Amino acid sequence: MPADLEALNPEQQAGAGHLYGPLLVLAGAGTGKTRVITYRVARLIEAGVAPERILAVTFTNKAAAEMRRRIEELAPGRGALVWACTFHSFGARLLRRHHDLLGLPKAFTIYDVSDQKKLAVEAMKELGLEDQRSKAGLYVGLISRAKDDLLDAGSYEIHALASADASRQAAARIYKLYQRKLEQAGALDFGDLLLRVCQLLRDHPEVREHWQSAFSHLLVDEYQDTNHAQYVLTKTLAAKHRNVCVVGDEDQAIYSWRGADIRNIREFERDFPNAKVVTLERNYRSTARILEAAGLVIHHNKQRKPKRLWTEAGPGEAIRVQELPNEAAEAAWVVGRIQEETAAGRSLREIAVFYRTNAQSRSFEEALRRGRLPYKIVGAVRFYERKEVKDALAYARVLVNPADSVSLSRVVNVPPRGIGARTLETVEAAAAARSLTLADALAARAEDPGTPPRTRAALRGLRETLEALRRAVAGLPAGAAIGLILELTGYKAWLEGELETDPEAAARLENLNELVNAVREHDEREKAAGRASELGRWLEEVALQTDLDAYDADAPAVTLMTMHLAKGLEYPAVFLTGLEEGLFPIGGGNATPEDLEEERRLCYVGITRARERLFMSYAATRRLFGQVYANLPSRFLLEARLFGAAGREPVPAAPRRESPAGAASLRASARGFSPGQRVRHPQFGSGRVLEVSGSGETLKVTVRFDDGRSAKLLARYAPLEPA
Ligand code: ATP
Ligand code: MG
Repeated sequence: MPADLEALNPEQQAGAGHLYGPLLVLAGAGTGKTRVITYRVARLIEAGVAPERILAVTFTNKAAAEMRRRIEELAPGRGALVWACTFHSFGARLLRRHHDLLGLPKAFTIYDVSDQKKLAVEAMKELGLEDQRSKAGLYVGLISRAKDDLLDAGSYEIHALASADASRQAAARIYKLYQRKLEQAGALDFGDLLLRVCQLLRDHPEVREHWQSAFSHLLVDEYQDTNHAQYVLTKTLAAKHRNVCVVGDEDQAIYSWRGADIRNIREFERDFPNAKVVTLERNYRSTARILEAAGLVIHHNKQRKPKRLWTEAGPGEAIRVQELPNEAAEAAWVVGRIQEETAAGRSLREIAVFYRTNAQSRSFEEALRRGRLPYKIVGAVRFYERKEVKDALAYARVLVNPADSVSLSRVVNVPPRGIGARTLETVEAAAAARSLTLADALAARAEDPGTPPRTRAALRGLRETLEALRRAVAGLPAGAAIGLILELTGYKAWLEGELETDPEAAARLENLNELVNAVREHDEREKAAGRASELGRWLEEVALQTDLDAYDADAPAVTLMTMHLAKGLEYPAVFLTGLEEGLFPIGGGNATPEDLEEERRLCYVGITRARERLFMSYAATRRLFGQVYANLPSRFLLEARLFGAAGREPVPAAPRRESPAGAASLRASARGFSPGQRVRHPQFGSGRVLEVSGSGETLKVTVRFDDGRSAKLLARYAPLEPA
């Protein structure tokens, strides 16, 4: 049979074969949840469901493409018709379809975080909050969370006023103006892609009914990390047919800081009574040792239903745990082990290094470069965020959507054409005061007799360039359009002229070539799919890219990424690094119980990515964010019963000066410790103070714990109590 259910075990088959009614697949890591989704879609098609009536929501576009490919294998000719996409791309698709109902231009722009910040800063200027410029990121975050919670500016304001929280109240004022500016620019931010769709379905019964019957089946992967908007969207779309299948694992909920709500999966059965619940227990990914370590760690979470996981795989190799003197030594150790692995025949693409914070990647990059090992970092500065690439995108966006003020203001004087920052500022202020788009305000300024002749000429020049470009690119495929943009705006010639003086110019030109290549590849894909390539569609594809989408899993290189990004992925060999109290779990002893549980789930996710080999490392001291930390090994090592297994590198750490601390907790430093004193640490138990050095924020206490281990602790981080 095409959708050969033989490739599934009986429990998986029960899930994939349950074709009608609500279905919850609740299972631990690596048990084949994602596989069940794929096979179930194939089974549905085989059972006669039209592929275009199936909506399968995944976490990344890449996962969606992979799903389409696998369905195509299982049900040839029909995989591409399935709606496999992320929630955000689904939102974009629906909003394009119904843009007129929402008063949006069809060619609306999708703003990324840096565009959002720009808009927030503009709103702050107008509100007289300019001194808070550095907080633009914070406000954008609050506005985005509000949208994820389906709060429009009005509802958010009511909440903010009730909260007596100054940041939220400022955010509420900014939100209103920010939203008006977004609308004026014919743009949507990421949150809007969900919020506006939910509003659309709520306010337009005919649209709601259309989509409720357009799809007969809805499937959602990684349901434990859905936010409120995604939850409402799922419920709304499934309300009629109720053929909704969600899969997930409450132990892998790691995005609550981005608005995800673990209750969505916990309460699925309440939302969809009579749901069939399938649990999967057999793990197909990892060795028994790896699975055991993961199980021991997650077992310490109280807010969870216990579950069983087993494997037929053998115990596999021992998990290697290593203590290193500092982060540089840790990176060198990791590189050494990678070299051993490759010498033993493992390919680089099978190896991943995970860390808790992006800042940790630097030492690995340096060590890998020194070891001449190719690597790829997932989620670092993305290609499409580079200055020259963003400039080219900005031109493209302005051509497609002339109202897009953020993009236009970006390129008004790039390449330099004699429109100074002061001119732009006055024009922006005039646009705000008169509720004009930036393009209209620029045009008015160009015709204003009070404008100096040189500025008028420059402004007219810009307008003519854009008009000529708009005519030239009409109907062209995206690749050709981008090529023309770089020529006709003079951008390329400008950079070429900078080659002598600007050491970055060569790299920028190279990136632009790379950009043209990427767009041409997009053109090819569109052609293969039987569509004409359009600039607008390409812009949308770029805007909807997730961090993982840009990642080439097949390139022969070591993968570096944060643990958050690793969800759903698997690698034969995995390094979990920086296992230190304060770093992982972040906050250490000061973290709230909820945060600690989320950190622990993150650790569970990290461990369960490994198929064959797992390495874990921690550094006795670490320089991070400009400070030196001396942390204890992570409690997760103790919980996994791996702490005793730690090896030590014989390299002594170079002595380091401690830098003054920032806003970190002072909980312990206020208290005095003296040699000989008995103390207690929540994970490491009781011990005796051997030595006290430094004072205040740099107070360090050396303790010999009763288990024989001694550690030098920075008192302000260590939850050390007098016994
Ligand atoms: P995660 O919780 O990490 O998202 P998951 O539950 O989605 O994991 P999958 O990624 O679907 O699990 O599967 C994990 C691995 O096990 C994959 O390599 C998959 O191909 C394999 N696998 C799953 N089920 C089977 C099976 N019945 N037979 C053979 N291999 C399987
Ligand atoms: Mg999965």
